[in-house]
Amino acid sequence: MQRKNFGRNQVLQPSAAYTPADEQEVLQILDRHRGQRIRAVGRLHSWSEAVLGDGVLLDLRRLNDVRLRPDGDQLVATVGAGCQIKRLLKELDRDGATLHSLGLITAQTIAGAISTGTHGSGRNSMSHYVVGVRLARYDASSGQATIEELSAGEPLQAARCSLGSLGIILAVKIRCRAQYHVQEHFTESRRLSDVLDAEASFPLQQFYLVPWRWSYFIQHRREHDQPRSRLARLYRLYWLGVMDYGLILQILFLERVVRSRRLIRLAFRRIIPAFLIRNWRVTDRSSSMLVMRHDAFRHIEIEVFVRRDKLVDALRFAQEAIKVAGGRESTLSADNQQRIEGLGMQEALAELHDQYCHHFPICVRRVLPDDTLISMASGAGEDWYALSFISYARPARRAGFSLFASFMARSMSRLFHARPHWGKVCPLEVNELTSLYPKFDAFRTVCNTLDPQGVFQNDWTAALLEADGSAGDIP
Ligand SMILES: Cc1cc2nc3c(=O)[nH]c(=O)nc-3n(C[C@H](O)[C@H](O)[C@H](O)COP(=O)(O)OP(=O)(O)OC[C@H]3O[C@@H](n4cnc5c(N)ncnc54)[C@H](O)[C@@H]3O)c2cc1C
Repeated sequence: MQRKNFGRNQVLQPSAAYTPADEQEVLQILDRHRGQRIRAVGRLHSWSEAVLGDGVLLDLRRLNDVRLRPDGDQLVATVGAGCQIKRLLKELDRDGATLHSLGLITAQTIAGAISTGTHGSGRNSMSHYVVGVRLARYDASSGQATIEELSAGEPLQAARCSLGSLGIILAVKIRCRAQYHVQEHFTESRRLSDVLDAEASFPLQQFYLVPWRWSYFIQHRREHDQPRSRLARLYRLYWLGVMDYGLILQILFLERVVRSRRLIRLAFRRIIPAFLIRNWRVTDRSSSMLVMRHDAFRHIEIEVFVRRDKLVDALRFAQEAIKVAGGRESTLSADNQQRIEGLGMQEALAELHDQYCHHFPICVRRVLPDDTLISMASGAGEDWYALSFISYARPARRAGFSLFASFMARSMSRLFHARPHWGKVCPLEVNELTSLYPKFDAFRTVCNTLDPQGVFQNDWTAALLEADGSAGDIP
């Protein structure tokens, strides 16, 4: 039996697969397969090797209960591991509550989303809000499957973003908040400094660097106490029709059917911007405003996280690399070219030349520092910025994107200490990855304590746990 992920770039070939009905059945499966490798998956919306498993595979979609309780002055939901975010939001909304943080889509499971540090913009990642994880694993002395609650210290910090490496997550306790409204409007700017200045007024904003036009579209967002706008439904329809479907269909047509770089560049310079309605201010429920149907069409993505003080240089570098990859330039600017030569990557840059025409706006989201060991926004007193690079090339025609993703990850990790998203394309060597996380050793210790036999690892996570990369300072 074979399963493929959303991006069709990972294939799972488990030796056995189960969809257990409850926690007891999970324990029985673990006891039956003692000594074998066991992994759990969510909805396979990750592109990285984190989803792989060639041993026993568990899909916990039937563990999807949601219970919301006040805990002191906070609201805490206990959520079955396989509950999709969309179901969780619906259940919370019944009680007038919602999540603190959301990604762009809601198809992921709660366990899957936290396991790779899923994030939105203007808040911490979802992992940060986790206050407890109920975990099935093996008891070290009896060897029997057992359940443990991780609710404090480094075990909790590790469980908040664990790449599936601690054991089978049965349920997640996550802090929630009262439902709230978000007001949004779009503007366009040529100056990054203006975009960043706007954060003070619009803390939830995210923005897009539009390739080939090289301006910024800013999705200004803030919490707002006004009621839902009269035209909120129309605005949702506009987003669905024009952005989620219209824009992507246009890109698919240009990238997959016409395959003309000239037309792709023209579309981004002139046509696509014409569909964006500027300054239409709309207020809507947060759980409607913060998400989109970004999963309507298959694509692949790499996303890298840089600290605030590296953002300006990182975006300039990305823009120049895209021009070289698209064949519009043959070298970077003098200072970036020098940096690449300093890394000995001039051949990699020459190989990238004219191999890939980037064809999607680069989404930039601010993520506040997480209290975790290894989520991408972990550590550092500064905010992190996630830069995403998406390709809609057909799965069989992704060679150019792979070259581009590999170049970006390798160069940006060395130049800007950029951390690739654990759930997205992650083309670094394991020691390069672990060296980006000062607390990776602490994560390794928790994994080795909870899973001393390494049965909850796949080849990739096992290699990460064995890697010897040590964290360096940001150059
Ligand atoms: C269209 C699209 C849009 C996206 N948008 C965003 C976004 O806005 N922001 C963002 O940060 N990410 C985004 N992602 C990435 C996505 O949120 C993550 O990759 C997430 O991990 C996927 O969740 P999943 O439920 O599909 O889990 P999977 O991809 O199936 O698994 C992810 C990891 O979780 C582990 N896992 C799952 N369930 C369990 C369990 N019960 N016990 C132990 N381990 C478990 C798996 O072993 C694996 O390591 C997007 C992905 C897609 C395809």
